[in-house]
Amino acid sequence: MGSAVSKILSRPEGFEDLGKEEICRLLLSEGADKELLFSCADRIREHHVGNEVHLRGIIEFSNHCIKNCFYCGLRRDNDAAERYRMTADEIADAAVAGAQAGLKTIVLQSGEDPFFTADMLARLIARLKDEHDVAITMSVGDRTREEYALMRDAGADRYLLKHETADPEAFSRLRPGTTLDGRIRHLVWLKELGFQVGSGCMIGLPGQTADTLADDILLLKRLDVEMAGFGPFIPHGDTPLASCTGGDVDMTLKTLAVARIMLPFTHFPATTALGTIDPEGRQRALKCGANVVMPNITPVRYKKLYEIYPNKICINEEGSIQCLPCITGIIRQSGRSVATDHGHSRKPVHGKARPQG
Ligand code: SF4
Repeated sequence: MGSAVSKILSRPEGFEDLGKEEICRLLLSEGADKELLFSCADRIREHHVGNEVHLRGIIEFSNHCIKNCFYCGLRRDNDAAERYRMTADEIADAAVAGAQAGLKTIVLQSGEDPFFTADMLARLIARLKDEHDVAITMSVGDRTREEYALMRDAGADRYLLKHETADPEAFSRLRPGTTLDGRIRHLVWLKELGFQVGSGCMIGLPGQTADTLADDILLLKRLDVEMAGFGPFIPHGDTPLASCTGGDVDMTLKTLAVARIMLPFTHFPATTALGTIDPEGRQRALKCGANVVMPNITPVRYKKLYEIYPNKICINEEGSIQCLPCITGIIRQSGRSVATDHGHSRKPVHGKARPQG
């Protein structure tokens, strides 16, 4: 007799409609069952999105933030944070260096900083799209629908907006003044506007259980996201959650693996946060369903100030010069190759996988 986990993983009908109880069983798997889950996710990743790993170069262009999330070192009330904003030329220079090093996606990320109006961001997006053959992903938090539309019209291809937790009570407690419903409304707007949408959550937040993590995965499934990231929660000393226990590697990998088998065409990054709590974390994630790595190409003088969580890896290396060769090496050592296309969504259009490019 096989275990309950092996029975779930041998369903002839596949895994895209797994229910909450089955998801919880997979998330709580251990030993041989856990290894079975990982190898199943790896097989499904290879079958649906192939062996190539997509690189997305992140430029963290401002660490100012008007929000006060309990888990984040950039929160408004953290007076210990040294704040910075990059100029448009500095951002463009970092993007050029990334594009010249072969990156096909540039991610523009910041705290929620109203200094950068949607008009300013739209001009920047149009400039980068005009000058370089890159996809642009925006990650600048909550904006109005009209502001999202401006960025989309300027040429932005994708938008990252993590749902953080699908538990409505925890969401409002950890992100004061905001609601899960509001966040979901923004994600729906982004989809309606034609963005490829990325979301995701933290693993190991206080009070989180397998049950609430199953809700996270089911929400990503319902939103039909094009990308989802799972990073372990890492407590920051200058936040209200300083004394909490952080997330662990195993649960992060299991969440990634379950999400992969339920959303087979979605892009999943091997997150930097995972590499921060385990030196082999990103390599392990690449074996559990991940097919994206996000090298940080922010200039070093700013990189170390973008401290959402402490002890982040790779903050003393120049991204395009040092991080890229290092990450390429990690990918090749994992038996995978680096993609040379834009890495757009592979989700089927009218029953066929989208062409790459
Ligand atoms: S998680 Fe984002 S919105 Fe919240 S404080 Fe940090 S940077 Fe600001």
